[in-house]
Amino acid sequence: MNIHEFQGKSILKAYDVDIQEGFVAETPDQAMMVAGQLREKTGTQFFVVKAQIHAGGRGKGGGVKVAKSIEEAGELASKMIGMQLITPQTGPAGKKVKRVLIAQDVYYKGNSDIKEYYISILLNRNVSRYTIMYSSEGGMSIEEVAEKTPERIFTEEIDPGIGLQAFQCRNIAFNLGLSGDAFKNMQKFLAGIYEAFTGCDAQLLEINPVLRTSDNKILAVDSKVVLDDNALFRHPDLAEMRDLNEEDPVEVEAGKSNLNFVKLDGNVGCMVNGAGLAMATMDIIKLSGGSPANFLDVGGGANAKTVEAGFRIILKDPAVKAILINIFGGIVRCDRVANGVVEAYKTIGKINVPVIVRLQGTNAEEAKAIIDNSGLKVYSASTFQDAADKVKEVIGG
Ligand code: GDP
Ligand code: MN
Repeated sequence: MNIHEFQGKSILKAYDVDIQEGFVAETPDQAMMVAGQLREKTGTQFFVVKAQIHAGGRGKGGGVKVAKSIEEAGELASKMIGMQLITPQTGPAGKKVKRVLIAQDVYYKGNSDIKEYYISILLNRNVSRYTIMYSSEGGMSIEEVAEKTPERIFTEEIDPGIGLQAFQCRNIAFNLGLSGDAFKNMQKFLAGIYEAFTGCDAQLLEINPVLRTSDNKILAVDSKVVLDDNALFRHPDLAEMRDLNEEDPVEVEAGKSNLNFVKLDGNVGCMVNGAGLAMATMDIIKLSGGSPANFLDVGGGANAKTVEAGFRIILKDPAVKAILINIFGGIVRCDRVANGVVEAYKTIGKINVPVIVRLQGTNAEEAKAIIDNSGLKVYSASTFQDAADKVKEVIGG
């Protein structure tokens, strides 16, 4: 699960990591109000107005702007809120800005001797360890640094059983060229972000830029945090940070019905129980000359409701030319699923793409009879090959 910059920073702050302070605002009035509060709290003269969307590269797309007064913060907020922000990471459609972060200006004039760094922590599955990736080339696209000057990217691997060691923090600060107070503050910063990363079961924590100020403080100016969905049950407070506006609406709808759905770009919709069978079904669709429009695992407890929800989601895709339902009745009984299909057909109304149903396992015979006797334009298939042939027949491949 992705979260916003302001949410990531609030996590960092809770772990005693120094951040560029700020308050979030949903309206221009709110923006001016929090700008006033921020000035009281931090003494900042200028403000940075930062669009809160789940994508980076906002600076390049006009989603990060400096305001020289409280009024200007309000003006910039009114321009930014509601805009469709396009950045190198959003795709051409961009993302709608619903909120802005009003942050203190940490690049103010008197703060001239500064340096930006890149630091991230990620789970490296290849070696079953965490990796801290860091570079003295902060503030720019790390992909570009990796491509042009890969020698400026360093990594430090951490055994999760032992945790981040002091010598590793010293190594990182040394490689970043820090000394004196900045060196010391970097130790604390690294320990804090590591605690934050493990404490909230993150998959990725990326801070770009990390800023060393003139007075040698180390600050997180940005934050990108990806939390592990499978661990969210341990963090109800973090689970609440989910912003459904930022997620694919069809996948959100699927999630509500407990369906595992991934959109693909083919023409045969699939509804299957079990991820393995779903993969095999996509293979057979390919072999039959079609290509799958989606991956959809309805789970072990498929019933009339889940089948209907699956139908609705698949039918949202105009590219779908046929639907293949492939269910193995182990715990779920095939006749129930068959009834679910017939029910869904009736409730949804006009389903004008052909549906091929293969139901095998418990009560398969009864299920086939239900489908065959329903009078609907549903084809029942008994074997994989049979299903593939029928798909081929209906899509004319
Ligand atoms: P991103 O572009 O989405 O990664 O957003 P960032 O939070 O990293 O901000 C992008 C850029 O805006 C930074 O690299 C800075 O150059 C600039 N920026 C961020 N905060 C401030 C600030 O307080 N003052 C000024 N003048 N620029 C800032
Ligand atoms: Mn950034």
